[in-house]
Amino acid sequence: MTPDNRIAICPGSYDPVTNGHLDIISRASVMFDKVIVAVVNLPMRKGSTLFSAKERMAFIRNATQHINNVDVEPYSVLTVDFARARGAKAIIRGLRAISDFEYELELNQLNRAQAPEIESVYLMASAKYSFIRSSGVKELATFGGRIDELVPEEVANALKERIGR
Ligand code: ADP
Repeated sequence: MTPDNRIAICPGSYDPVTNGHLDIISRASVMFDKVIVAVVNLPMRKGSTLFSAKERMAFIRNATQHINNVDVEPYSVLTVDFARARGAKAIIRGLRAISDFEYELELNQLNRAQAPEIESVYLMASAKYSFIRSSGVKELATFGGRIDELVPEEVANALKERIGR
């Protein structure tokens, strides 16, 4: 990794972004010159997300506007191809538990086979956020559970409006 080219991408669905994602993004922003939050916008997955790519990106933009070196972009190609196109040398992923590990190991092997020059970097979830996942937050919101400490305020309000009972 050359010192003048420390770009990383943080790929994911972010449906919606949680405080766990934001923790990883902000920690990555200290390690790299530029962090691109890459939001999956796959036509084949159309309709399967609660929020549109535009909405998901707006949530992340608003929650990261205080971090100067974070950009948010949609992508609909292979993650490694997007990383290459942006000149990124690293793909950042968060690891919450052993259950994440198996999936990430497989993903890593696949990505490495496609693009050996791009390194995957894993950040351990902070204990405080290690139990948060977007699907769990959506489920809580559906049944009127408390989600205010799990996601940014704007996201909590949007969730309550869209799926809260
Ligand atoms: P995917 O679409 O692959 O499920 P997500 O959009 O859920 O990915 O998450 C993107 C990245 O953020 C993944 O690396 C995931 O492990 C990580 N992540 C999600 N929630 C948390 C959390 N609470 N703490 C740390 N990392 C997390």
